[in-house]
Amino acid sequence: MLALISSGVAVTRAEIARHTGLARSTVSHRVDALIAHGFVDEDTEAPSTGGRPPRRLSLRTHGHAIAGVDIGASHCRVGLLDVKGTLLAVREDPLTIADGPEAVLGHVERTLPRLLKVADGTAPRTLRAIGVGVPGPVEFSTGRPVDPPIMPGWHHYPVPEFFGERFGVRALVDNDVNVMALAEQRRAFSDALHLLYLKVGTGIGCGIVADGHIHRGAQGSAGDIGHIRVGERDEPCHCGNSGCLEAVAAGAAMAARLRDVGLEAIGSLDVVRLVREGNREAVRTVREAGRAIGEVLSGLVNFFNPETVVVGGALSAVHDQLLAGVREAVYGRSNPLATNVLRIEPSRIGENAGAIGAGILAIEHALSPAQVDRALATDATAV
Ligand SMILES: [Zn+2]
Repeated sequence: MLALISSGVAVTRAEIARHTGLARSTVSHRVDALIAHGFVDEDTEAPSTGGRPPRRLSLRTHGHAIAGVDIGASHCRVGLLDVKGTLLAVREDPLTIADGPEAVLGHVERTLPRLLKVADGTAPRTLRAIGVGVPGPVEFSTGRPVDPPIMPGWHHYPVPEFFGERFGVRALVDNDVNVMALAEQRRAFSDALHLLYLKVGTGIGCGIVADGHIHRGAQGSAGDIGHIRVGERDEPCHCGNSGCLEAVAAGAAMAARLRDVGLEAIGSLDVVRLVREGNREAVRTVREAGRAIGEVLSGLVNFFNPETVVVGGALSAVHDQLLAGVREAVYGRSNPLATNVLRIEPSRIGENAGAIGAGILAIEHALSPAQVDRALATDATAV
């Protein structure tokens, strides 16, 4: 019923009864419970064909909010969304993930109440759920990071319990590219049920949406494409192997190549700056990196057959140059059947993709039939 109401397919009790085939009394009982528990509002202003106007139902967006937290290697972005997924407020602060979970999550703990107070200038809101994206592998069922290479001190840290104890709500934790993939698919490419989201920044990762759902794999490491070998390349990689995609084509690798020819480049942002300044060496480096990414991607396209590949991350700021190389390699190498309708596009959501995607993850959990049933079974009154 909640899905029918939120999608606008059925927004009156009569329409819900028609769509579900349930008895009017059953529908009314359930709708009353959804209203009492703060999921739904009912107004009286619906247009009518005569007689008493049918009252229209809508998701209750006021009074409560969902948090979407995007933790990067060197930043933390905390967003607040209403249950329709509208971003109400967002705040970004520089932060070092290597400082460990207490320092980073403590910052989120302090930021959230401030955002809840000022979210959209109206009354303060209560928190309903929290979604968190982190730059490392996560065991999704427990929300615990697993051996995350750039997150010392986070291995098996109980992130959901940290938030559960402080805010009394459920927190869902996922890999950052997964939540970014979710944001792009739900918000910008909703017609593409099979989508790959490629994040090209300091490292390279891939989020997979299969048939509308995030595909995490058996251990949650699906999409970890940074260590697939590129052709005959032999650049040493921090993982101990050589020729890995990340060692060849990530932002850090591009910056190192530019340093070798005497340019000043420490990381991804310097590469972006040099390309924007029109530096020919930088343009060539980005395009070459695009071709290496495209070489690996062509295999993924043949294997997975996505409708859309979205390229995000810091290097998507120079997507003209990057995607030229990617497209060249993918369309040159992939099976025509797989590339006939394939689109390769830059990110449309941009810098808030992580926070919005983490929020959507939490919203979809909070509004899932199992969770709504659980909420309605409790004695709690309106949220
Ligand atoms: Zn490697």
